[in-house]
Amino acid sequence: MSEARARIVAADKAHLWHPYTPMDRWLAETDPLVIVRARGARLFDADGKSYLDGNSSWWVAALGHNHPRIVAALHRQADAFCHVSMAGTTHEPAARLGEELCAVAPPGMERVFFSDDGSTAVEVALKMSLQLWRNAGARDKCRFVALDAAYHGDTLAATNLGGVEVFRRPFAGVMLECIHVPVPAPAPGAPNDPYARAFTTMEALIAERAHEIAAIIVEPRLQGASGMRVYDAELLRRVRAACDRHQVLMIADEVFTGYGRTGPMWSCSAAGVVPDILCTAKGFTAGVLPMAATLTTARIFDGFRGAPERAFWHGHSFCGNPLGAAVAREVLAVFREEEVLERAVPKAHRIAEAFQALADIPGVHAPPARGMVGAVDLAADAGYLGERGWRAYAEARRLGAYLRPMGDVVYIAPPLNIDDGELDELLDIVRRSILHALG
Ligand code: PMP
Repeated sequence: MSEARARIVAADKAHLWHPYTPMDRWLAETDPLVIVRARGARLFDADGKSYLDGNSSWWVAALGHNHPRIVAALHRQADAFCHVSMAGTTHEPAARLGEELCAVAPPGMERVFFSDDGSTAVEVALKMSLQLWRNAGARDKCRFVALDAAYHGDTLAATNLGGVEVFRRPFAGVMLECIHVPVPAPAPGAPNDPYARAFTTMEALIAERAHEIAAIIVEPRLQGASGMRVYDAELLRRVRAACDRHQVLMIADEVFTGYGRTGPMWSCSAAGVVPDILCTAKGFTAGVLPMAATLTTARIFDGFRGAPERAFWHGHSFCGNPLGAAVAREVLAVFREEEVLERAVPKAHRIAEAFQALADIPGVHAPPARGMVGAVDLAADAGYLGERGWRAYAEARRLGAYLRPMGDVVYIAPPLNIDDGELDELLDIVRRSILHALG
C-alpha cells in the first residue's frame, strides 16, 4: 500500500463510522478501496486501478461521474455565490429550477419544497401530509400506510415507514404511526403475485380506516432497498383510485425510481398515476451535490395558506442551495439535450436480457429487470445479512467493477448514459462474479 493511501486508511479507521457497515468488518478489511478520481462510469483507486461503478455510487450518479457540463455549471455558480438562505430571499437557480422541474413533473405538480437528500424529501412529505389534515380540522388523520418491504430513508420518521426488518428493528414503534402492509416473500412458481395480495390489503385498509390515515407512501413499480423487487403498474392505479375514493393522500417516493431509472422520467407516469406528493433526490443532482425536492399540487399548497399558524414551519439551512440548484438545472438540460431517456432504452433491454440469462444458473433467482436496474437473488431467503453477495462483490472488485450487494441480492443500477462497451463489460463481470460466488 502506498504511503499516501496508508495515511488515508489509517485516519479513516481511527475516526470514521461508515454508513450501513458492520464496523468490525470494515476495520478488519486489509485492502480497503480508496477512491481518488471518478469519470463517467468508472471509479479510480489510489493504485490507479479502475472499477465500473455498478450502482452509480448508491444510485445517484445517473449521468456518470464528473459530467463536464454539470461540473462547469457548478463552477459558474460558485463564482457568483455559493449559498444564501431562502428565508425572505430568492435567486435564479432555485426559482428557475422550480419552474423547470414542474414542467417535467407529472401533471398537476405545481409547488416545490427543497431539502437535502431522499430522507428529508420524504420527511417533508410526511409532515406536509400531517399538517394538511390538521389545518383542515381532521386531527385523527395521522397514520401512514407503507408496504412491509418498503424503504423510504433513514431519518427517524422515514425509518418507521421502512419495512426492511434489520433496519427498522432497533427503532420500531418510536414516534410515527405507520401501518405496514405485508408483502409475502416471492415464491418462484407461486400462483399469486405477492404484490397483488399486498395491494388488495392496502385498498381494504384505505377503505376501512380512511378517517385515521393521512397518506400512503409507495416506491412506484420498483422497491429498491428491499431487493429490487418489481410490481405491476395496475396495482399503483388501483391504490390511486382507492386514495381518491376515500380522501387519503398518495405519496410517490421517486427518490430511486425517478429520473429515468425505471425507463420514463417518473416511474408513476408509466402507470399513468399522478400522486399528491412526489419526492425526488439522487438522480435529481446526478450525484454531484446533496439536494432533494418534494413536489405537490396547488390543492395541498392552498391548504397551508391563510393565518400564519397554518404555514409549513419547516426548513433546512441548505434549502434551495444555489450550487445544488444550478447543478439540478444542468442535469435537466443534459437529460433533454443528450436524450438520456431515449438512449437508455436499448441499454435497459440489454440489462433485462443479460439478467434473464442469469436465471439459468442453478441457485440464481432473477426477478424481472426494470429499466436500468437488474438484480438476482443468490439465496431463497434473501436478507441483508446474507454472505453470498459479498463473495460476488470481492470477485467483481478483482475483475474491475464495484458491485456492492444487498446481502444475497446482487444488482446493477449503472449510470443511464454508460457506454455500450462498458455496459457489456459490467454484465460480463456480473456473470463471472456470480458463478464464482456460487462455485
Ligand atoms: N427513498 C428511497 C426509495 C430510497 O431508495 C432512498 C435511498 N436509498 C431514500 C428514500 C433515502 O435517500 P437518502 O439516502 O438520500 O436520504
